[in-house]
Amino acid sequence: MKVLVFGAGQLAQMMYLAAVPLGVEVYAVDVNAREVVNPITKQKLDMSIEYAVSDVSVVTAEFEHVPEDLLGLAEKSGKLTPNMAAILTGADRVREKRVLQSSDIANCPHHIIDNIEQLNNSIASLGDKLIFKASRDGYDGYGQWRYTAPEDLPKLQQAFSSLDLSQVPLVAEKMLNFDREISLIGARDAQGNTACYEIAENLHYEGQLHVSIAPATALNAKIKQDAQAIFDRLANALSYVGVLSVEMFQMGEQLIVNEIAPRVHNSGHWTQKGADTCQFEQHMRAVLGFPLGDTQTHGVTAMVNIIGCTSFSRELISIPGCHLHWYGKELRAKRKMGHINVVAPSYFALGEKLMLLLEYLPAEYFPLLEKEAIRLKSLDA
Ligand code: ATP
Ligand code: MG
Repeated sequence: MKVLVFGAGQLAQMMYLAAVPLGVEVYAVDVNAREVVNPITKQKLDMSIEYAVSDVSVVTAEFEHVPEDLLGLAEKSGKLTPNMAAILTGADRVREKRVLQSSDIANCPHHIIDNIEQLNNSIASLGDKLIFKASRDGYDGYGQWRYTAPEDLPKLQQAFSSLDLSQVPLVAEKMLNFDREISLIGARDAQGNTACYEIAENLHYEGQLHVSIAPATALNAKIKQDAQAIFDRLANALSYVGVLSVEMFQMGEQLIVNEIAPRVHNSGHWTQKGADTCQFEQHMRAVLGFPLGDTQTHGVTAMVNIIGCTSFSRELISIPGCHLHWYGKELRAKRKMGHINVVAPSYFALGEKLMLLLEYLPAEYFPLLEKEAIRLKSLDA
């Protein structure tokens, strides 16, 4: 069996690696070059996108910002999984908010701004601290502007004046003072069965995910239940098939959905060693109509992103339970180059392993790690 993935980055690469043992071959589409490539070597394959779509059993996506004509081509073949509307919902914050509202799922108080005249009204009515997000093509905190004081207004007006807001509106969101960021990754199959992983706790630095801990610490049964209910409602509303990721803010006992990603997710990479079936295999199973795999966790896992850095000691894999995943990309500032999964039997043991890991890594690229290691070590022995 063959699967075609729109996007040829690390997520397609990890899908390929997870699909091989199932006897499934994965091809990727570099959507910028509009070429079918090998997901590992990125070498161009001698086939057109049209041919590849006709040749595979399923077409899926590693990211939501796929040109609409390509999604349309795949949708028309009847092979696009998840469906086009679900992918477009993840690609467009306006559509996303609409689905959240109509599914009655708590999300950030917000306004849609499609005309710069509406800016003052949003600031007056949403509160004194706001985040403006481009409704399309944003990721890793790009396409976002913060308003924290009236002095910020001229800078924002200047930035927004060059945007065509009637085509790509902004979403103005109240800046929430949440306790922490968590995510729920799960899969839904074509029969409507769902299988979710444990909730991950996500640590961001300058708008980028740096560390995920799964299962998140200090979760109670109500939060787990609420998160699962949110997942089920969203997945059903989107008639979703595949792995779906839901990013949430936790405020006390309340969960607020920040955004959804219609795909495997960076905050689910921990499942490669920390769960029975990793998210990449699970996605393949779901889209191909295979039975969903067990999502049970093995111990506790930390996923540490390697961002903008290639110089560290590969000897880190000598730490028991420590695994390196390298994406083979050219170095750029702030670019995700790879990640490390560390599995341990307890939070305390995980904290100790992260302290060891720090000895192999240049500290300036891992600004959150030491504090998190110390916190985990204080939890349980
Ligand atoms: P990514 O690709 O990493 O998911 P993104 O560019 O899609 O990021 P968001 O997830 O919406 O953007 O925002 C990035 C980060 O900014 C969030 O993880 C959170 O830390 C912060 N943030 C976003 N919205 C709000 C909000 N309304 N209040 C407070 N912080 C927020
Ligand atoms: Mg996000």
